Amino acid sequence: MNPSEIIRKKRDGGKLSREEIEYFVNGVVDGTFADYQASALLMAIYLKGMDYDETCDLTMAMARSGDMLDLSAIEGVKVDKHSTGGVGDTTSLILVPLVAACGVKVAKMSGRGLGYTGGTLDKLESVRGLSVAVDTQDFIRIVREVGCAIVGQTGELAPADKILYALRDVTATVDCLPLITASILSKKIAAGSDVIVLDVKSGSGALMPTLEKSIELARTMVDIGNRTGRRFSALVTDMDQPLGQYVGNALEVEEAIQVLSGRADGDLKDVALLLGAHILRNSGACQAVEQGVAMLEAQIANGNGLKKLAQMFAAQGGDPNVAYDPSLLPKAQQLVDILASCDGYIAAIRTADIGYAAKALGAGRERKEDPVDLSVGLVMKKRIGDRVAKGDVLATLHVGPHSRLEQARALVEQAFTYADHPVEKPPLVHCVIE
Ligand code: URA
Ligand code: CA
Repeated sequence: MNPSEIIRKKRDGGKLSREEIEYFVNGVVDGTFADYQASALLMAIYLKGMDYDETCDLTMAMARSGDMLDLSAIEGVKVDKHSTGGVGDTTSLILVPLVAACGVKVAKMSGRGLGYTGGTLDKLESVRGLSVAVDTQDFIRIVREVGCAIVGQTGELAPADKILYALRDVTATVDCLPLITASILSKKIAAGSDVIVLDVKSGSGALMPTLEKSIELARTMVDIGNRTGRRFSALVTDMDQPLGQYVGNALEVEEAIQVLSGRADGDLKDVALLLGAHILRNSGACQAVEQGVAMLEAQIANGNGLKKLAQMFAAQGGDPNVAYDPSLLPKAQQLVDILASCDGYIAAIRTADIGYAAKALGAGRERKEDPVDLSVGLVMKKRIGDRVAKGDVLATLHVGPHSRLEQARALVEQAFTYADHPVEKPPLVHCVIE
């Protein structure tokens, strides 16, 4: 076997064997497969596709390319959740403590912000003292003692994905179904949980360009995921506008606290509870999704979800008082309102541009090593279908000393489209794939 034979086979539309796929993945990690050869094979896969067997073999080979976390020291079913990335969707910070408060153990590994999307790790770091760099032993101990933890990757999980993702990013091969599937699933499988719920986004702030493609991605991930012996399911949810009102790091922690305190309703809460309810049902904590939603609502009403968040903050070295007093979070110095330019109804919001605006304000990174300003971002005041008058506040920018204010202002202003007739609100959940 050698790289050029494998590249030629896929280039000509052939089906790769498990051995060839393992040779490729191991070769990417140990250097047998040079970057340029891996890039050529990625493009061949992009153009010729992969069938279910190949995608499954690629997923497992990538999952096994580094450490496979063993969570057996934690009693019972371990659950995890993953989103394909969105704007203003801090569902993890809501559902993780609520599910844990229901007695189901959540062992969650999260990422940093990527592109225009926010990252849970960055958000969590706005809690004073909190560390997301937790080693495997402490991660397992915290999940056992508290019931949940949200940390950065411990150990070396799926190193093949790290290399391949970086190559895809610069060779126009990111938006490829089998490659996305293997990338996401390999990391979730290596992270060791038994039950995984995927939140696949669809709309103007989503990875896949159309609803059909988002549904196809969700189906493929659930099919392949379930073949690997874990229980996967997926919700295809709307990202045609930011999910919550708050976009940023400390701002999104604040909104999660509001929801957990019973002080905020709306789409963010609804999606978080629905994802959480699927986790509860799939882990055997209840029979039906509606029952799961009621269980999670009860943990908001009795205050146990918020208490669990405070315990998780403390276990990871953070100040637990933040959960009860969001004024302890970093605050931006300057607020700037963005106003409606005409009368009408909000017809559409270019969600990715809202994410880019938050990034221009300093909430995200241009380069991997850049610092983020945890205090900045924006608060959305209008949603699709809302009626507005010229001069109404559409959004409030939270601005810091290093913010590119004019760029952010232009992005937000241009993100809104108006109609002179009433506009229907988009559905929140497009479909559920079991
Ligand atoms: N997120 C990932 O982790 N991998 C992809 O391929 C796309 C989104
Ligand atoms: Ca976000």
